[in-house]
Amino acid sequence: MLDFKNRFNIMETLQEVKTSVYKFGNKIADGNSTMKNLLGGKGANLAEMSAIGIPVPPGFTITTEVCTEYNLLGKEVVIDMIKEEVEAAIENIENIMGTIYGDNDNPLLISVRSGARVSMPGMMDTVLNLGLNDEVVVGIANKTKNERFAWDSYRRFIQMYGGVVLGMKPESKEDIDPFEEIMEALKHKRNIELDTEFTVQDLKDLVYDFKDAVKKRTGHDFPTDPWDQLWGAVMAVFNSWNGDRAIYYRNMNGYPSDWGTAVNVQAMVYGNMGENSGTGVCFTRDAGTGENVFNGEYLIDAQGEDVVAGVRTPQQITKLGSKRWAELAKIEEVDRAENYPSLEELMPSIYSELNEYQDKLEKHYRDMQDMEFTIQEGKLWILQTRNGKRTGAAMVKIAIDALKEGLISEKEALLHIEPNKLDELLHPIFDPEALKAVHVIAQGLPASPGAATGQIVFFADEANKYKNTILTRIETSPEDLEGMNLSNGILTARGGMTSHAAVVARGMGKCCISGAGALKIDYKNRTLNVDGKEYHEGDWISLNGSTGNIIEGKVATIEPELSGEFAKIMDLSDKYATMKVRTNADTPKDAKVARNFGAQGIGLTRTEHMFFEVDRIKAMREMILADTVKGRERALAQLLPMQRTDFEGIFEAMQGLPVTIRLLDPPLHEFVPHQLATQKELAEEMHISLEAVKIKIAELQEFNPMLGHRGCRLGNTYPEITEMQTRAIIEAALNLKDKGIEAKPEIMVPLIGTLSEFVEQENIIRATANKVFKERNDTIKYLVGTMIEIPRAALTADLIAQRAEFFSFGTNDLTQMAFGYSRDDAGKFLPIYIEKGILSVDPFEVLDQEGVGQLVKMGTEKGRSIKPNLKVGICGEHGGEPSSVEFCYNTGMNYVSCSPFRVPIARIASAQAAIKEVI
Ligand code: PEP
Ligand code: MG
Repeated sequence: MLDFKNRFNIMETLQEVKTSVYKFGNKIADGNSTMKNLLGGKGANLAEMSAIGIPVPPGFTITTEVCTEYNLLGKEVVIDMIKEEVEAAIENIENIMGTIYGDNDNPLLISVRSGARVSMPGMMDTVLNLGLNDEVVVGIANKTKNERFAWDSYRRFIQMYGGVVLGMKPESKEDIDPFEEIMEALKHKRNIELDTEFTVQDLKDLVYDFKDAVKKRTGHDFPTDPWDQLWGAVMAVFNSWNGDRAIYYRNMNGYPSDWGTAVNVQAMVYGNMGENSGTGVCFTRDAGTGENVFNGEYLIDAQGEDVVAGVRTPQQITKLGSKRWAELAKIEEVDRAENYPSLEELMPSIYSELNEYQDKLEKHYRDMQDMEFTIQEGKLWILQTRNGKRTGAAMVKIAIDALKEGLISEKEALLHIEPNKLDELLHPIFDPEALKAVHVIAQGLPASPGAATGQIVFFADEANKYKNTILTRIETSPEDLEGMNLSNGILTARGGMTSHAAVVARGMGKCCISGAGALKIDYKNRTLNVDGKEYHEGDWISLNGSTGNIIEGKVATIEPELSGEFAKIMDLSDKYATMKVRTNADTPKDAKVARNFGAQGIGLTRTEHMFFEVDRIKAMREMILADTVKGRERALAQLLPMQRTDFEGIFEAMQGLPVTIRLLDPPLHEFVPHQLATQKELAEEMHISLEAVKIKIAELQEFNPMLGHRGCRLGNTYPEITEMQTRAIIEAALNLKDKGIEAKPEIMVPLIGTLSEFVEQENIIRATANKVFKERNDTIKYLVGTMIEIPRAALTADLIAQRAEFFSFGTNDLTQMAFGYSRDDAGKFLPIYIEKGILSVDPFEVLDQEGVGQLVKMGTEKGRSIKPNLKVGICGEHGGEPSSVEFCYNTGMNYVSCSPFRVPIARIASAQAAIKEVI
């Protein structure tokens, strides 16, 4: 309870509050779109639309401040406080609509909706059709000449009001909704199945049964006075701000509880009042292609949901759209004009009014609009407008067109691009028509976008068994690389967004679904079992890498068109971006792809990927299994020319742009054969016994390879590896110099945690480079830097910067170690964490700015405290994720580096970050 003094203070404050109720309608409004905090998002937008002359159903908004006061002072005080304003606002609606709230013959019906300052979809309450009672329903029936509509609205009203305001909810989780229970009983009695089969008498019976149930459960009659109904609904909306759903949603998104919700009260309008009524949805441009044509669908004598429900075939709004539609539907012009006329033809004056509003709204909101409208007895009402959802292709075209038309500025055009949606323009996609009829058998993580169709194979070395294959594995390992490359798509039962399969697939631009836990894969019997259904090797499946859907059978794909607008928007991004975008590329082919997408260098070459090709893996295995330094050096000597050629290819592809090459990183165990046949082969080649090979492999087994003998620990225990790799890099650069091509190598040491670990490697690198320079009597410029991917490295970055010439944040490992989540096992629990809201996103996909971000920020700051111009970048998967790119920009990084197919996305995100900072 509030004490007297507090209460007095609050009352005094309330005296100063001038307006609690903001009216809108008749093309004027008390509020506008800047008042979202006070009027909520919905209220502010309704006011804005009305103020610019759009005919929205008239109404008013009770402010969010009143909600806060209600929470402090309770119902009675608040009603007293706003009663006069609300009565005047209802009168305003009555005047505009020419109807009267509570009148039996000419009744006004209203809706009451919540509306916080940000959209909280479905978290709070709504009540429709207020004002109905036993007398008013007769008035509505007479007025609309539609008894069924009147009684159906009435029974829906009691149901909605009963649930939201009177607490008529199921008593326990096993119970069904009390009103549904009554409806089910009547259906059973009448031996019918659908709501639409109820007769008018049934609906009347339901109304009385519903009211009886309310009386029985609450002890009170259902309120018949429309004013009691209104106040009850307003208070219920206020209460819903503190409902479980809303609190959960607020907590999840970090919205404070003192924001409160506004309440929007609006006249109901109906599109099902006969032949001069209707309803529809329209877009100011084509949401699929971006073409600048007004388009949409409508239905005569129908309610909003009828358009989307698909029971009746909606008609096209414009004549052009109608003709195009008829052509596709193979309908003759005579038939079309007679039976499916456009709104333009059927109601020319309504159409021209609508056309005027769509134009006005697009100009006002400076973006493509998606609008809903209703025509009630020859009068057009616009119910809602919002920026329309669109495909990636449409997004790019609309931004460029709008720029050309002078509707938006260059910066706005860039900000209108949703970077992730560019993915759609970079990979083949399923034909949307074909997707309508597919059977989805399970879902996994959308690890690498695109569409793939093929026959199931379970082993990488069988990936070319059929012409089109989907490599289906429990998980993949570097051994599978070639098979992954040969298959159309990759599907794994385990692993998260940075699992081996996911990272490699994204690098290749290949469709991949990872972590599909519902799949039970049996390698021995070559079967895949999902929910009891068995699939065999050779069966066709399809993967939608953008949604994670695994689909039975073949689905047709289409090549996306890379239109001229796409190139234009990318050029524009370069004008504003200051942070560069490099790529993670391991082969000359990938490097070329990335350069075509505008990469400004390579931020990470994972040298180990080069060792997996058939001719190299043998030498690599010999090196690993060698017992002596000499033996290792012999094997490394075989690898040297191959690495050198690889580096030459990459340097050549990058034509003078910087190339960061990372020394060997993964645990050696990943390189050795695990199948008996290959082990035998290796034993023969090395002239040792199979047993000796097996023992060696067993010795390499580690309890926790991710924290084991990997990264710089390899180079520090086997310096000859670092020597060979450095030699290959420097010799390659010198060879190119001889050909007149500049190469800018940046040699990167992986996984250091201490300065000495780095210094030890740096010394080997510099000594080797000097040796080569001497041998060749020539030099090139190169840098020696390090990955920062172990928390200790970030914490001691000032020490490390004394020697390192650049930092590259390896946020895959940094995330793994900061969270303590194994990259390779996180697929088991992360999806559940996200589903339960324990985590809102996968931290391997979206950089955790709150935690891991601190390490990145601290590492950068500490490094630059020693070397103010220290070059800093990121090469973890986050380098291609828009929100993480923005974070990197704000941290002051010089570049981000990502898979080739994400380069355009990162370029846009980089430009957007720079633009946002200035705004
Ligand atoms: C990283 O850890 O972020 C990184 C880029 O290296 P890798 O993924 O190869 O461990
Ligand atoms: Mg790493």
